[in-house]
Amino acid sequence: MKPAAQRLSRIRCARALTPEGWCEHCVIQVDASGRITAVVKDDSLSVDLSLTGTVIPGLPNLHSHAHQRAIAGLTEHKLAGYDDFWGWRELMYRANARLGPDELQAVARYLYSQMLQSGYTAVAEFHYLHHDPAGNRYADPAELSARLLEAASEAGIAITLLPVLYCRGGFNGQAVQGVQQRFFCLPEHYLELVQACALHCADDPNRAFGFAAHSLRAVAPEVLTRTLQDAGDLASGVPVHIHVAEQRKEVLECQALNGRTPIAWLHEACPVDENWCLVHATHADPNELRAIVKSDATVGLCPTTEANLGDGIFPTEQFMIDGGHFGIGSDSQICTAPTEELKLLEYTQRLTLQRRTVLVKDDEGSVGRSLVEFALAGGSRAMGKATCGLVAGARADFLELDNSQVDLAALSPDQVLDSWIFAGQGIAVHNVIVGGRHVVVDGVHSLLEVAARPFQQVVATLNEA
Ligand SMILES: [Zn+2]
Repeated sequence: MKPAAQRLSRIRCARALTPEGWCEHCVIQVDASGRITAVVKDDSLSVDLSLTGTVIPGLPNLHSHAHQRAIAGLTEHKLAGYDDFWGWRELMYRANARLGPDELQAVARYLYSQMLQSGYTAVAEFHYLHHDPAGNRYADPAELSARLLEAASEAGIAITLLPVLYCRGGFNGQAVQGVQQRFFCLPEHYLELVQACALHCADDPNRAFGFAAHSLRAVAPEVLTRTLQDAGDLASGVPVHIHVAEQRKEVLECQALNGRTPIAWLHEACPVDENWCLVHATHADPNELRAIVKSDATVGLCPTTEANLGDGIFPTEQFMIDGGHFGIGSDSQICTAPTEELKLLEYTQRLTLQRRTVLVKDDEGSVGRSLVEFALAGGSRAMGKATCGLVAGARADFLELDNSQVDLAALSPDQVLDSWIFAGQGIAVHNVIVGGRHVVVDGVHSLLEVAARPFQQVVATLNEA
């Protein structure tokens, strides 16, 4: 199931967002490996494609659990009694127990096609479903990792695969239970898994790998540090992700058992640096915000999931003022559109602070553009990408917004971004290019329709009983 994605070498843009600002009538030149070689203003060049809308760099999705797409929308039924993140987790665990390799690939293939059609061009897959439903290793321990990579290649999205270390069932070191057996990895088996993933990613410019620990609940910090040391060169310069402070309950439990909160403990005991992505730093206090900025790590925010699960609100404005890096992720896949994540990210700050236009990094300017630039820069760091955006050396990942509607004709490029994120206004993602390949054409991903049926079958199975 391969998309017929054409490789483009020259694309003319009516207007494109570059690191220097909006550039009109430029040509993006792409080499055979899918990297940008130059962005030039030259009206005489022949091109493969002309984009008349507003072109912006593709947005990285820095935190995804593909398998959770299968239950998005199936956990909104209230049962009597108290409901919170932990109740949702039980439902998610129940669904996990029924997903095998074919089902996972079917869900991921559909999901990644949807992400592309919404404007994400790369995904960091935080992958902890390692073993079969009984908790036994597959003949190939990297079976499910390989299926995710294959699904990404089928859809045409770039992927950073992050196999997840999961060693224990809680802060006090209890054993994993039930479905958690599917996640469990001894550090030595985990390193074999990462090694296998690295081989699967070699020589493919759309694939990368990194390390991840599920959380300090699931991995003691000294075990995480030792595992990274034991990895040697394999861990050099690659991303390291962790769920860090999503739920107040886990923060309090960690404080009670270890005398410090997870973010503080992580910074004390692990080599946190610019390669790290702290996902859901939701309950960071001011000192912890400063510690994260000092370590130069990126914070991964997933506003629609954090809202859906009742997690809390990250103090993004203060983190921005402190100079922090952050990006967005779709996490539980309750939403697969970057616009919704960015809008909710800004709105949660407005609701908390009772002010408008909060997340603008230079104190004045377009909120939409600022949000896009934060998501691009922070997301790229989290993906392990040294160069990003429409610039020589970066992978040619970009999208065109269709702003041809009559009522949008008078908008400036910044206003198009503001309207795309905050007002909809019928602005659609019209064309998407990943690594120079044209994967969404005139608003349609060619694989989405074919991928829908197997996806529906998986959901129907999960929804039985
Ligand atoms: Zn997550």
